[in-house]
Amino acid sequence: MPKKPKINNPWQTALTQFNNVSKLMNLPEDIHQMLKNFSRILTVSVPVRMDNGTIASFEGFRVQHCSARGPYKGGIRYHPELTLEDLKALAMEMTWKCSLTDVPFGGAKGGVVCDPKKLSPGELERITRRYTYAIQPIIGTDMDIPAPDVNTNEQTMAWMMDTYSMNKGFCSPGIVTGKPLNIGGSLGRADATGLGIAYTTASAIRQNKKPLKNQKVVIQGYGNVGSAAGKFLEEMGCRIVAVSNSTGGIYNPGGLSHNTVMAYYRENGSFKHFPRAENITNAELLELPCDILIPAAMGSQITKENAGRIRAKLIVEGANGPTTPEADEILSLKKITIVPDILANAGGVIVSYFEWVQDAQSYFWCKNEVNVKLRMLLERSFNDVYLFAQKNKCSLRTSAMMLAIKKVADAIAVRGLYP
Ligand code: GLU
Repeated sequence: MPKKPKINNPWQTALTQFNNVSKLMNLPEDIHQMLKNFSRILTVSVPVRMDNGTIASFEGFRVQHCSARGPYKGGIRYHPELTLEDLKALAMEMTWKCSLTDVPFGGAKGGVVCDPKKLSPGELERITRRYTYAIQPIIGTDMDIPAPDVNTNEQTMAWMMDTYSMNKGFCSPGIVTGKPLNIGGSLGRADATGLGIAYTTASAIRQNKKPLKNQKVVIQGYGNVGSAAGKFLEEMGCRIVAVSNSTGGIYNPGGLSHNTVMAYYRENGSFKHFPRAENITNAELLELPCDILIPAAMGSQITKENAGRIRAKLIVEGANGPTTPEADEILSLKKITIVPDILANAGGVIVSYFEWVQDAQSYFWCKNEVNVKLRMLLERSFNDVYLFAQKNKCSLRTSAMMLAIKKVADAIAVRGLYP
């Protein structure tokens, strides 16, 4: 049965953002058409032997948007509601993200429609290996390099790297990034997206000439990305007042301690009933009074329905595509600044790039070197975006997209068309 189209379809969001910016910057029509389309979309069937002996067939995809600036790059997502349209949006955003931050890759994204919560570790491993085999013809260290995304992690990457290497007959660490350290991963990769969010938040607050100290932060999605952002922002002096996962969250205006919250979560598998905090829903969390709101869960969370009730002064997009274009307009009227996803959460792919470079050289850097280089790239990108926005009197999102699209368009122009 065909799936119901999603309300607030992420592909419509990505396309509307691209069309609007393309018009604003007078992007030539032929380049616009090329960038609206995708180099390659692969749909694969992933049949897997389940623990009960039956065979289940899952649907998998790899979407490659544009490789004008370098090999395709982007994560692998496992989610029961994943659609090809989601992946098209995410692949396009990867192109802009890499371009904006001068990472020499193009955009891609992939995934399997499955619910990891209902699968055993063995089933997840078999899905991962069969999926890797299925997309193997179009991935490669110089062709397309997958990485973790929602519901995938370094173990998933280890299985992908092993499957690819076994089929090729030689060990190929650079085929994926976000791997465990002992098989060619990079120090700092696990926390990179969260640390990047903290660095870009700090840059944005600095522009407002405010100290970070005691800024009240609300984080939707306290998983890999959100909790790392929380840890670093707390270290920088912020007060984390609310956090959540997919089942709900907790709020204490006086502040929550990151370490205590994480210890409680590890013990109870949930934030619910955390002492001295109020239990709240994800919808309530987004509308809390705070200085900084960090949506770090799924896309399309801030929509025309709730944007009018958002009380944060600054939104830093940890997730990909958390704000719809209609919500963007409402927030801009309310003078709420948004640090867009392609800047705020680029830390992950930046350190993925560092990992790929280290794998190619078989020479590994210390954590400090990784983090200093990450910080330099993000601060430079933030400044570029901020100054361009000031000069052109536009939002940080429009500025970031303009800068990113321009670099991709220039690469297409100078390379020329084959044949
Ligand atoms: N999935 C992450 C993202 O959306 C990381 C991608 C990568 O490292 O290639 O940026």
